[in-house]
Amino acid sequence: MYHHVKKLMYTVNVDEPDPNFGNMLLEQFGGANGELAAAMQYSIQGLNCDDPARKDLLMDIGTEELSHLEVIGTLARLHLKPTKKDAEAAEANPLIAVIGGGGVSLNNSQGNPWTADYLKISGQLEVDLRSNIAAEARAKITYERLIDFTRDAGTIDALKFLMAREIAHMKSFGIALETMDKGPLEIGEMEVVDEFVRPFYNDSTGDGDAGEDQRGPWNADDEFDFTEAPAFKEIAARKG
Ligand code: MN
Ligand code: MN
Repeated sequence: MYHHVKKLMYTVNVDEPDPNFGNMLLEQFGGANGELAAAMQYSIQGLNCDDPARKDLLMDIGTEELSHLEVIGTLARLHLKPTKKDAEAAEANPLIAVIGGGGVSLNNSQGNPWTADYLKISGQLEVDLRSNIAAEARAKITYERLIDFTRDAGTIDALKFLMAREIAHMKSFGIALETMDKGPLEIGEMEVVDEFVRPFYNDSTGDGDAGEDQRGPWNADDEFDFTEAPAFKEIAARKG
């Protein structure tokens, strides 16, 4: 069950409202990498999870994300409030100004409605945890970019808190994945045929300005069979 406490997880202060910036903040409210998406993704994964320890982790973090939603929503509203009466401010987001009366709604910065399509819920714990690590990484850089676009000290302070929490979650999800009884390449239930895993296909080729082929640990000879572009094999053989 859920319980609401009338207190923000982190205090929010805005010295000077900036409606344009408030509009950008909607990305973290009703956008693809935003707090509602995170809250729903982890909570629904938690509903589906049969591992009691990791289910608890998903529910803990899913619920914390709802508290983040409240913080970012409060912050966005403070920045968007002038759109209610001020025509110039209203230009920052006519949808919020005219339909929402200066209040936030679950849209992204372009006015697109929030959608469950943002969510990655696979019903396979190791896959979900990887999706969550990636989701936290995207949220982290979204906050970083938002911080770059404002000079308001109170706003930066709150965004830095939210940004740090994403790394905290990433850390927990990472450890939860590592400590599962699964190797890093063991995904799902079925074994894969090693013969098909060995080849690394050199499918992007070129020289000079187009760039030479590069070798690295990701296609090294001890791990992979480096295979020249199959598309050119016949041509190369004919030229032979
Ligand atoms: Mn968050
Ligand atoms: Mn998070």
